[in-house]
Amino acid sequence: MDTDLDVLFDQLNNSLFMGSLPTYRVRRRKPQNGEHGFINDAARIIWICSSPDVRQTLLHEMCHIGTVGHGRLFRAKLRRLAQRGETWAQAERVYYLRAELSMKAGGWIALWEFARDFKGGLSSIVSG
Ligand SMILES: [Zn+2]
Repeated sequence: MDTDLDVLFDQLNNSLFMGSLPTYRVRRRKPQNGEHGFINDAARIIWICSSPDVRQTLLHEMCHIGTVGHGRLFRAKLRRLAQRGETWAQAERVYYLRAELSMKAGGWIALWEFARDFKGGLSSIVSG
């Protein structure tokens, strides 16, 4: 049984989320794609897979309750955890922030590349 994980969920909900989260069951399962854990909102279950740090993985998934993806809202939750003493959450927040920034930068670079190629295409038409 995984009642110890359910107890951990309650403890973390009370100490770090001010008891604001709805109750989810926490269960273990084999990873499908090497994931540490994932959440099933419909069934209200958090699955812990292959995690080097169960507590940290559980907290990450708890931040996903009501928040899909690792965007601004998710990062705000990580920031709150960091403010409550979870120093790893700050590093994780920066990681996702960097990922999002590089994605955006990637978009601009792709646009620049497109514009450059389009211009090149035009000039080859004109000169050809
Ligand atoms: Zn996640």
